[in-house]
Amino acid sequence: MKIHEYQAKDILARYGIPIQPGGVAHTPEEAEAIARELGGPVVIKAQVYVGGRGKAGGIQFGDTPAEARAAAAKVLGMDIKGLTVEKVLVVSKLDIKEEYYLGIILDRKSQAPVVMVSKAGGIDIEEVAATAPEKIIRQPIDMRYGLRPFEARDILARAGLPHNVIARGGAILTALARAFIDSDASLAEINPLALTAEGQVQAADAKILIDDNGLFRQKEYALWAETEESNPLEFEAKQAGLTYVKLDGNVGIIGNGAGLVMTTLDMVARVGGKPANFLDIGGGAKAEIMRKALTFVARDPQVKGILVNIFGGITRGEEVAQGVILAQAELPKGMPIVVRLSGTGAEEGRAILKDAGLDWGRDMREAAQKIVAAIAARE
Ligand code: GDP
Ligand code: MG
Repeated sequence: MKIHEYQAKDILARYGIPIQPGGVAHTPEEAEAIARELGGPVVIKAQVYVGGRGKAGGIQFGDTPAEARAAAAKVLGMDIKGLTVEKVLVVSKLDIKEEYYLGIILDRKSQAPVVMVSKAGGIDIEEVAATAPEKIIRQPIDMRYGLRPFEARDILARAGLPHNVIARGGAILTALARAFIDSDASLAEINPLALTAEGQVQAADAKILIDDNGLFRQKEYALWAETEESNPLEFEAKQAGLTYVKLDGNVGIIGNGAGLVMTTLDMVARVGGKPANFLDIGGGAKAEIMRKALTFVARDPQVKGILVNIFGGITRGEEVAQGVILAQAELPKGMPIVVRLSGTGAEEGRAILKDAGLDWGRDMREAAQKIVAAIAARE
């Protein structure tokens, strides 16, 4: 389950992690009032369930209450990666000197939560991870003990954080690990952990994902679940019994079965694409379900092309092909679709697609390459 930054910070504060004072506003007037109460410059932060808000213009600054109001008017209603900003967090602005990254993620390979720390935090951390992974120090947590303070300090020192940050940063990292474990999180991130000009160390941003399977005992956090307003499509899909998840990229993905869908996501990433979402249509789908799936996925404005990857069993290839053809008329004009079919009725399905002038891939890799290339060609 995703939660907002202000909620994640609420959890962090319970563990003694320093955060900026502030409040949540739904209107520019509320933002102005909060800014006036705080006094001094503020940051207006879009509260949506996606990262990279800074780069998308969802983080704005205001030196006066009037400026805060104007900034909030700009951010509220803004579309960030297909999500509408319904509320903003208004916090006192920090004078940031350096930005570090602290993260904990559940890692299947080590069968433990893994701590990640980098001196090169901030909005380009993904790029750091891709181009200079050695700048990120990783260490699994031994679940028998949790993350012990001396281990936290050691990780920060190895990541090259300045000595005057190690003690307080170590306490923050230890607390973050406790928060992660106690709240059944699958991810907990502070990016940036800010060192201010006055020498304070604070969590300037926070992200926590809570494992849905832990919600039965995380009763308070379970109440934070939002429905329509935060992600209308995920909500609608859930009502219809579909497995639909919104992601950050531009390739819509439809598959049948969780394993196949996950593999398709990996394949798209491997050939240089970024999934926008995925929809698992399950087994035994008919043409009508296929048509609905395509039009549903295309409703996310981030989607610039769709990859359909179906392993035919009870679901027949011909049905899939017919569904794709039906959907085409309802999709934005010229939206690329690439289909990969295997199993029952694959031959027949491919023949139908070919007759309709639709593109298909011989295998998953080729299909992924084709959709990524088709999207790139239109940009
Ligand atoms: P994200 O882009 O969704 O990760 O949002 P963040 O909350 O991390 O903000 C993005 C960037 O805005 C940060 O990396 C900082 O560089 C900057 N920023 C955020 N809050 C403050 C603040 O209080 N003071 C200053 N000076 N910069 C901030
Ligand atoms: Mg951030």
